[in-house]
Parts: sequence; C-alpha cells; structure tokens
Amino acid sequence: MKVIWTVTPVGYQRIAKRCPSCNVKREFAPSGAFRVNSQKKVLDIWSIYKCTHCEYTWNISLFSRLHISKINHELYHRFITNDASTVHYFANDKATLSRNKAELAGKPDFRIQEQWQVSIKTGQKVTVTIRLSHSFQISVLSILKRQLLLSTAEIKKLIDEGHISGITMKELKSLKRMTGYLDFQLSAVTLYARRKVVLGQR
Ligand SMILES: [Zn+2]
Repeated sequence: MKVIWTVTPVGYQRIAKRCPSCNVKREFAPSGAFRVNSQKKVLDIWSIYKCTHCEYTWNISLFSRLHISKINHELYHRFITNDASTVHYFANDKATLSRNKAELAGKPDFRIQEQWQVSIKTGQKVTVTIRLSHSFQISVLSILKRQLLLSTAEIKKLIDEGHISGITMKELKSLKRMTGYLDFQLSAVTLYARRKVVLGQR
C-alpha cells in the first residue's frame, strides 16, 4: 500500500533581518502584496515584507531594471494581482533571499492531506511519500509527529524497532528547506496505531 502526504504551508515563510526601526534582528513576514514600478518600459518589482514586531515595511527586490519585453506575460499578471502562490514561491527562493541578504526564519505552520493508494497486495509495510505543495523550511519529524500523533521519543523507538525505515532520526530532525519528494516505509500497525481511520462515505 502507498500513502501520500501532501504538506502545504499555512501562512508565509518568514525571513530574518535587522529591523532599522526596532534596531535588532527581527522576523519579517510577506504582506502578500507586490510592488511594481514601471518607467519607460523598465520594471522594478518587489515583494513587500513587514517586521512582525513593529510593522516596519521592507521591500525585497525580485527584479530590478528589467525590460518589460523580458518578463513572461503570465508572471507579470501574477505580480499585479498579488498572486499568493507567487508570494510563496519568492519567499522561498534561494537566489532572491541571498541577493537581499535575508535568511529564512522559523518554520511556517502547515497542514497535511492524506491520500491512499490501496493495492491488492496487502503487506506489512506501507510506503509513505511526503510531497510539498511549495518548498519551504520544515523538519520531517514535525510532519510525522503531526500525522501519526506521536512524540519524538515514540518515533525514535519506532525507528529503533524497525517500524519506521528508510529514514534516520538525524534526517528527520534536520530543519531545512525541503523540496520535491521524500519516501520512507512505515509498518501498517504504526500508521493505524494512534489514529481513528474514518472511511469517508460520499
Ligand atoms: Zn521592527
């Protein structure tokens, strides 16, 4: 059997930078709006961030002095409509962050959607695929804890006993910007142990 967990961030990825108003390093969160300046067919585009403490506004440069003919029409439309998935994308874009001397701060909350692919062959092991809707900073451990309703100590014990395999405790704990897919194996008992599995009727 195969299970897919699709993880979606709730709220935007924050970044850390010294706030000129607070005069200390603070977390800044995207306001959800872009600023687009266009002058003689040359564009400057920013994502607007706010200090989470004092609301000081900080514009993160996405494109500067870009000729209008060089930008994809659809992308331009996303900027002028303040498209949320585009805000997510640039909030996690490594090149943009390093150009603006910003670093990722903390980790956004997230929600998990579970899908099952039931096969005829019923084994003892379930392959779990974790898929991120957007790449963002997260530890795999926090996903497992949330979805299996287990503590860190309980998860460590399950790895030691072989109920969770294909991933190490070190890999689970590392907090990083996750992209793409990640697979590991889970014994069927572990998947069901704590959870009341409700079969939907539609
Ligand atoms: Zn501030």
